[in-house]
Amino acid sequence: MDHFHYRDGALWCEDVPLTRIADEVGTPVYVYSAAAFRAQARAFRDALSGVPDVHLAYAIKANPNLAVLRVVAAEGYGADVVSGGEMARALAAGIPASGIVFSGVGKTRAELLRGLEAGIGQFNLELEEEGVVLAQLAHERGLAARAVLRVNPDVDAGTHAKISTGRKENKFGVSIDQAPAMYARLSALPGLSMQGVAIHIGSQLFDLAPLEAAYRRVKALVDELRAAGHQVARVDLGGGLGVRYKAGDDPRTPAEYGAMVERVTKGWDVQLMFEPGRVIAGNAGVLLTRVIWVKPGVVHPYVIVDAAMNDLARPALYDAWHDVDAVVPRGERMTANVAGPVCETGDTFAMAREMDAVKGGDLAVLRTAGAYGATMASTYNSRALVPEVLVDGDRYAVVADRIAAETILAAERVPEWL
Ligand SMILES: *Cc1c(COP(=O)(O)O)cnc(C)c1O
Repeated sequence: MDHFHYRDGALWCEDVPLTRIADEVGTPVYVYSAAAFRAQARAFRDALSGVPDVHLAYAIKANPNLAVLRVVAAEGYGADVVSGGEMARALAAGIPASGIVFSGVGKTRAELLRGLEAGIGQFNLELEEEGVVLAQLAHERGLAARAVLRVNPDVDAGTHAKISTGRKENKFGVSIDQAPAMYARLSALPGLSMQGVAIHIGSQLFDLAPLEAAYRRVKALVDELRAAGHQVARVDLGGGLGVRYKAGDDPRTPAEYGAMVERVTKGWDVQLMFEPGRVIAGNAGVLLTRVIWVKPGVVHPYVIVDAAMNDLARPALYDAWHDVDAVVPRGERMTANVAGPVCETGDTFAMAREMDAVKGGDLAVLRTAGAYGATMASTYNSRALVPEVLVDGDRYAVVADRIAAETILAAERVPEWL
């Protein structure tokens, strides 16, 4: 079911018209569907129901809003976090520390310590020295940190270069060739309880073949570790499943993914961990915006909207596509460029786009903005920080305030000597 749908000629989120949210909250604003989050969280969970021992850790960087975390956690998810700030959010959302996985290539000593003190379930180590430091911090406190070693399986995920993480030249994980010796050294450290291995090869993957290849490499490593006498209790298979952004996109579904996992991991005899982000959040949100002007162009008109690259960075960062639809379609089509007000040519959401005809003052949405949207927002050009709304049935709430440019200005200081 599509949780953003047209009713009586206008776009609604569940049982709330987007026109009402625009009137009452203003634009630009992210609008999320709680039902869509729940449906995707359940679809992913159900897809793995044939796998014996599963831990689901929602990759909160995709959408870390506190209310969103509540919704996803209620579906039985822990959290995959990549900073102390994300760990604090996961804990604030009521996610048990034991269900939190701490990933990330640059965890500081202070962050490792906060994780230890909070008692989080698993540290995903990215380099040997990190494990040595973590072991020392834990040992000094009479603790044993549960950890896995993230390996880089050197597979090409076949996705955009900026969201590919499993090639040997990427910054993530340790070379799978060096992993056995490193694992042995880490296992010998007091203060560290090595549980197994982890991978995450990239994001927005449409094809299961690279994932399957990576999983098979990981299994060979597990066999090698076991042959060397190590216990391997957990394998963290990461995230990466893609979502549909435009017509013709044909990502594998959670069900297809689950079937592959079940087939490939049969008999592994480990707890399997998953870190889905985009597949849970992507289609659960839109960025609602108002057209400021329709500016005549040399080739096509420019639809200048009040959302910009500071609110939704994906098109500027990755040349990403977001469908653009009118909230109240006029019944005509146009070919146009869609851009924000920021003073960068990169602040362009679409070029030569065949879309609903719009005029100044009309509302529009950028679809599939639930993942890697608000979480990447900035205040560039001294714009406000974009607010977020969560719809649940016929109710909605502002779940993150718009932070005005004046509020941000108030946090700046001019030293007395100036
Ligand atoms: C970003 C990330 C994820 C989530 O990736 P998606 O493509 O959003 O599923 C999972 N694990 C790690 C370590 C990540 O960095």
